Amino acid sequence: MKENLRLKPRPTRKINVGSIQIGGDAPISVQSMCATRTTDLDATLAQIKLLEKAGADLIRIAIDSKKDVQALKELRPQTEANLVVDLQENYRLAKDIAPYVQKIRYNPGHLHHHQREVSVSDKVKFLVDVAGENDCAMRIGVNFGSIDPALKGEAEDPMQAALNSAYQHCDLVEGLGFERFVVSLKSSDPLRVVEIYKEFAKNRPNIPLHLGVTEAGMLPDGAIKTRIAFEQLLSSGIGDTVRASLTLPDNEKFKEIEVATQIIEDVKAGKFRSVPKEFLEKGLNVISCPSCSRVENGAFVELAKQVKEATEFAREYEVTIAVMGCRVNGPGETDDADLGLWCGPTHVNLKRGTEKVGAFKYDEVMTHLMQQLDEIIATKTKKIAVG
Ligand code: SF4
Repeated sequence: MKENLRLKPRPTRKINVGSIQIGGDAPISVQSMCATRTTDLDATLAQIKLLEKAGADLIRIAIDSKKDVQALKELRPQTEANLVVDLQENYRLAKDIAPYVQKIRYNPGHLHHHQREVSVSDKVKFLVDVAGENDCAMRIGVNFGSIDPALKGEAEDPMQAALNSAYQHCDLVEGLGFERFVVSLKSSDPLRVVEIYKEFAKNRPNIPLHLGVTEAGMLPDGAIKTRIAFEQLLSSGIGDTVRASLTLPDNEKFKEIEVATQIIEDVKAGKFRSVPKEFLEKGLNVISCPSCSRVENGAFVELAKQVKEATEFAREYEVTIAVMGCRVNGPGETDDADLGLWCGPTHVNLKRGTEKVGAFKYDEVMTHLMQQLDEIIATKTKKIAVG
């Protein structure tokens, strides 16, 4: 049984997808996509096994043709993995695919290309019927890069167009009585991803969300972009299933699972590279970076631990304290915290908001930190209740 990685339950619907559940209080599931040609059965099966071994809960494969469908039929008896298929323009392939997979993803922006004489709502009905008949879940996957052309023309901002598209399709699918679906709203810009998911979650709080930064790129940049978005969203309780979309050689595709799982575990442990703008749980938040080769002094880890323990008394106050391991990201990333510490080779820099308080030796900084914390607490009139 996988450890429950659910961070903060949001009241989304919980849906069944093969052997797992997504949403509600279910653990956050991690998924990836095979980069092989689906018709190359050996390579695809090898990649499915690699991803499963790394802990993938769901594995997506591409089906673009009848030949791919035939390959899927041959693959199915050889794996018990929960499979998801991405439908491209040819939505009608869903009927052939659905008996062999647990989830179908469609992109609302792709329903305009084939069979233009058939309305989008009829196409959605076709997909919902197919999913219902075959015990499949669905994902409504909106991408900034392929927004429904009609909606794109109406809205000035692509983010609003993407949101409108998601709302429209949620209404269509729910109007047909189908609730077993998740939504994704992907962009390659992590800050836009944060913005759009927060907006959607505010307006449709019951719909489970699939998080992703599309085309995040190669390591390490792709993991950093993904982390920036996921940290902000997961810490505010948004995100029920995730994928880190990285550019990797076929035999390293499992790193998508490793990166996503690590981010979830770090957020759960309070390890952040960027200070979250909001936390679902109110009160004291002590966060520290997950550390990397840039850490300037090994004493950083011990310091982070000390900060956590020594500030415990202030847990009822809304204060964020960030402890960062290096001068590369430390100065900027601590700006959003009430108190920030970033570590240099011999000294720790202490900040209050964006203002520098001073640079102190590792064995002296705690005294100064506690002094600053006392001052901040003295200004806080509202003590919040912490369970
Ligand atoms: S703050 Fe510095 S040490 Fe910490 S994870 Fe970021 S780059 Fe690495």
